[in-house]
Amino acid sequence: MQTGRQWFDAQPDAVKRQMVPVSAYDDLAAGRLRLDDFVHLDRNDRWGDRYRQGSITQAKEAAKKRVAGVTLPQVAEVQPRRFVAVPQITSRKDAEQYFTSIGVTVENWGGAKETWQLVANAYADELTATGSVPGNLRFKAGSNKGDVAAYARSVNTSTGDLISEYVRIYSNSTYWKDPDSVRKQIVDNGFWSSEDPNHPIVHEFGHWRHAQVITQDKFGFGFKYDGQVFSNKSFGSTARRVTAQKVSRYGATSPPEFIAETYAGLRSGNTYDQDVMDLYRLYGGPEVKQSEPRKRKAS
Ligand SMILES: [Zn+2]
Repeated sequence: MQTGRQWFDAQPDAVKRQMVPVSAYDDLAAGRLRLDDFVHLDRNDRWGDRYRQGSITQAKEAAKKRVAGVTLPQVAEVQPRRFVAVPQITSRKDAEQYFTSIGVTVENWGGAKETWQLVANAYADELTATGSVPGNLRFKAGSNKGDVAAYARSVNTSTGDLISEYVRIYSNSTYWKDPDSVRKQIVDNGFWSSEDPNHPIVHEFGHWRHAQVITQDKFGFGFKYDGQVFSNKSFGSTARRVTAQKVSRYGATSPPEFIAETYAGLRSGNTYDQDVMDLYRLYGGPEVKQSEPRKRKAS
């Protein structure tokens, strides 16, 4: 039987590259993972053993074994986790009490207690790590193009006054029915920047924080930060889009999504190359405590 390494070495370069999810590029560049860590052996009595592309989690496990005795960076240990007590949520009353206790108003209740628990966990983690969370939360049964969650902000275009701002959970989305396996699929194909169970909600927190430091074009075409105007739709250059691609495929779709995906990635303990961090700061990306501190201009 071939070893994974032998099998991998025999593959064409194009196959080798395809085996690596975009979100693993930084780990590869830093030498924490090697291409052959992505070779995963599937054992099957009926069909026989075969090699296939492993997930990032499996690659990290493989890397650990490979460097046995060498300590790898333990992402989970460097970030504060769940120091704010989250109660076991067994009813809507539990959920209401919890969100009230952290100052979050919930409108349009919907969904199941498992979903409320996950959402509560995400809010608790955010509160612990950063000291603040958006104050309004809404549920919506109808899923918008398969969306899991959203951040919505509405501003009076004449006066600039804020009309409403909330995080929305699409409670009927397939995601909330089986979050772990749906998330694994999405992360494995490079679409999201982290495997954190909180990811889709932290992503919306990223949009929310970004909205506090930028000025939106009143027609929704662009945003202004630090005296510069940026498009909501386009990076304006291939180089910037390629940089955003290092974070995730979703992050490469537009500057606001790049901010939200990078924020969620940083919050999950990911580290990024200098060009990613430079682009994040150029657009006004929210500071994350785990990364190097930066000064923000008083506004
Ligand atoms: Zn988004």
